[in-house]
Amino acid sequence: MAWDFATEPEFEEKLVWMRQFVREEIFPLETLGLDYDEMLRVIRPLQDQVKERGLWAAHLPPALGGMGYGQVRLGLMHEILGQTPYGPVVFGNNAPDSGNAELLAIGIEETGDEAMREQWLQPLLEGKMRSAFSMTEPDTAGSDPTLLKTRAERDGEEYVINGHKWFTSNGSVADFLIVMAVTNPDVHPYQGSSMILVPTGTPGVDIVRDVATMADPESEFGTFGNHAEIYYRDVRVPAGNLIGREGEGFSLAQQRLGPGRIHHCMRWLGQSKRAFDMLCERAVSRTAHGSLLAEKQTIQNWVADSLAEMHAARLMTLHAAWKMDNEGAPAARMEIAMIKYYGAGVLYNVIDRAIQVHGALGFSCDLPLEHMYRAARAARIYDGPDEVHRQTVARRTLRNYAPSEIPTEHIPTRREEARARFADLLEQATANL
Ligand SMILES: Cc1cc2nc3c(=O)[nH]c(=O)nc-3n(C[C@H](O)[C@H](O)[C@H](O)COP(=O)(O)OP(=O)(O)OC[C@H]3O[C@@H](n4cnc5c(N)ncnc54)[C@H](O)[C@@H]3O)c2cc1C
Repeated sequence: MAWDFATEPEFEEKLVWMRQFVREEIFPLETLGLDYDEMLRVIRPLQDQVKERGLWAAHLPPALGGMGYGQVRLGLMHEILGQTPYGPVVFGNNAPDSGNAELLAIGIEETGDEAMREQWLQPLLEGKMRSAFSMTEPDTAGSDPTLLKTRAERDGEEYVINGHKWFTSNGSVADFLIVMAVTNPDVHPYQGSSMILVPTGTPGVDIVRDVATMADPESEFGTFGNHAEIYYRDVRVPAGNLIGREGEGFSLAQQRLGPGRIHHCMRWLGQSKRAFDMLCERAVSRTAHGSLLAEKQTIQNWVADSLAEMHAARLMTLHAAWKMDNEGAPAARMEIAMIKYYGAGVLYNVIDRAIQVHGALGFSCDLPLEHMYRAARAARIYDGPDEVHRQTVARRTLRNYAPSEIPTEHIPTRREEARARFADLLEQATANL
């Protein structure tokens, strides 16, 4: 039997250290209202400690300085780091830099372009540069990227890029952008799109604003975690800035999104658990109508349902990670789609219940719950809206079923068949009576 739900003791030791480090050293930073530069300065000594422990940028293969942990172990790490927005930055594996580094690494492996490694990948891994992924456009449906309009035309030894993007996360603090553009409009977009590295300072790159959102309604330009709107107008970059090969944009995107979704879901579980702890603490602390909230059945239902939902999401996510480690990302496509919408729903519901149990305090800014709630709403949209993932799961599942005029389980039909099949036995059985 190979079923095993245990973490090996050596890795569990690392997780124990991370739990304590995140709670004691990183949680307090959340309350200080640091701007981007202050944040970078304050977290540097913490990043050094992470590096000393060999846990920096652990998502990368050993050849690139990572630990080659595989998705299950990374998932367990992300569950701890995702409890606080600073966690992944301190550990050098925050989105979108971690996914972008993986993209560059895959591209370099394919093309052998060592200049790209030195100029962009290495500084990104060391945390000396920031990156952004620029795919979604305001004028086309992001959930159907075959509609992509941004064009990159080859002109001699350069690409010329024209397009309009938004929700390029971290775009206004990035040193370079990875732009998804159509390079060949004459073939299906799955074969005609490419990813191209564009340094932010390139003439024609116009970052017009950081879009204010539910999570950050008063977004100041150039804040870490921003979602930039960007025009690309006749932006010229060397042809060597192509990542991987021309036409590979979609297949690269798929490779990047699989692990990324597992990490997201595990971070959401870290957040859910934090909200759940607040829920339970309040339930055993507050009295109303003659008893503790914890003694009321509705609150008990919230505790029990939240715990069961988080447990289900955790098992589903770790199973998806395990499948990816053992059978590869394409084999885990259904599982990854399922955890994306299921996990986002769990996150949202648990935070909602935690707010409710705190009453006005939950709605106030005196607790992290209100911000967690606003940020959690986006989980149902980014990396593909719930509906698209549900469609993937439903379509793939329904493929295994054939139409049948009479339902296979139709009892009268089955009875008739059984009578014909067992006629002799039935005759003997009745004769013996
Ligand atoms: C916080 C945040 C960060 C993001 N970061 C990035 C980033 O770094 N880089 C980047 O390129 N993009 C980013 N995005 C954009 C994100 O990927 C897109 O918002 C997402 O793909 C959906 O695209 P859309 O917004 O154009 O919505 P649309 O495609 O217009 O979809 C709108 C709605 O239509 C419905 N819908 C769509 N398809 C179906 C279907 N098949 N069946 C049923 N209903 C359907 C869904 O309800 C969906 O929510 C980010 C978004 C958010 C919110």
